[in-house]
Amino acid sequence: MPATRIIKISAENPDVQKIKEASEVLCSGGLVAFPTETVYGLGADALNTEAVQKIFKAKGRPSDNPLIVHIASLENIHQFAASVSEKGLQLAKRFWPGPLTLVFRKKENVPYEVTAGLETVALRIPDHSVTLELLRQFGGGIAGPSANVSGKPSPTSAEHVYNDLNGRIDLIIDAGPAKIGVESTVLDVTVDPPIVLRIGGLSREDIEKEISKVNLTDRSELLRRSPGTRHRHYATKAQVVLIPLADIKKFEECIKQYKEQRKKIGAITYSAILGSVDVPKFHVFLDSSIEHIARNLFGAMRELDRQNLDVILIESVEEKGLGAAVMDRLRKAAAHVG
Ligand code: AMP
Ligand code: MG
Repeated sequence: MPATRIIKISAENPDVQKIKEASEVLCSGGLVAFPTETVYGLGADALNTEAVQKIFKAKGRPSDNPLIVHIASLENIHQFAASVSEKGLQLAKRFWPGPLTLVFRKKENVPYEVTAGLETVALRIPDHSVTLELLRQFGGGIAGPSANVSGKPSPTSAEHVYNDLNGRIDLIIDAGPAKIGVESTVLDVTVDPPIVLRIGGLSREDIEKEISKVNLTDRSELLRRSPGTRHRHYATKAQVVLIPLADIKKFEECIKQYKEQRKKIGAITYSAILGSVDVPKFHVFLDSSIEHIARNLFGAMRELDRQNLDVILIESVEEKGLGAAVMDRLRKAAAHVG
């Protein structure tokens, strides 16, 4: 495939003519990376089996990891879902467009590849002016996982997509950095109470304000309902080591230990207190608001990984609200060694 084209489109004032170009690529079975409020997605026509297969190939995505189908409006649910529970509809009405993916029983016309053979389909209306216009022009569902090489941190800018997928996809729409920076929350609403399959941009607390309770899963149920979660995620080349929040002693100990081992060290921290330590040369200091951390974390991990480090020390965050999604990503990143 020739080099990937990038078109810049303003999120404030989207150029419908440029969006038409992207829609045409999708109509002809091509791959388009598109902006969302969570992370960049890699899109294909959700009802075109061959186009969907190209997503798996471009990303190197394991075939048992299903894709989210992005839709333009509530009415489109019924193109893909065979049945919609009351709570599912209530949550869709309350939180769409937004960072919540809802898992419904699937209709028969949904290709096997999209759902990875499951009996369910994941749907979401993304909250992004450009992609909403793209969805309206395209007129169907866009299957779109995150637009990264499988296993790496998700892309929060067009540049991240380009670095991972140049030459493997047709087009990237560049509408600037993603606002939220972590992926959507995935909620299975085929059961009551609904089950959180992935915590993300919408917090459990916010969902429970709307419907009284959601459940978490144990690992075996998670693997049954969302088999793709077994795979490596958010892995950097360097080993990620988590430091407890504001734990200056642990931070210093780790630096000393890895220095003695002659390891090349990087760090991502948020607390001013850790900034006062003799920090490693490759240090990204993020403002401590959880929104800022979520928005910039994957970018910081990618930036440090370009320095060919051995270890990246990352400070933990408080595990509430969006912090739960950030800690989930950090634990997965730390689970991968080397
Ligand atoms: P990504 O967009 O790359 O973050 O990946 C999509 C996420 O949605 C993955 O965590 C999938 O496991 C999940 N997902 C997609 N479809 C389904 C489904 N039918 N059932 C459960 N999880 C799903
Ligand atoms: Mg992904």
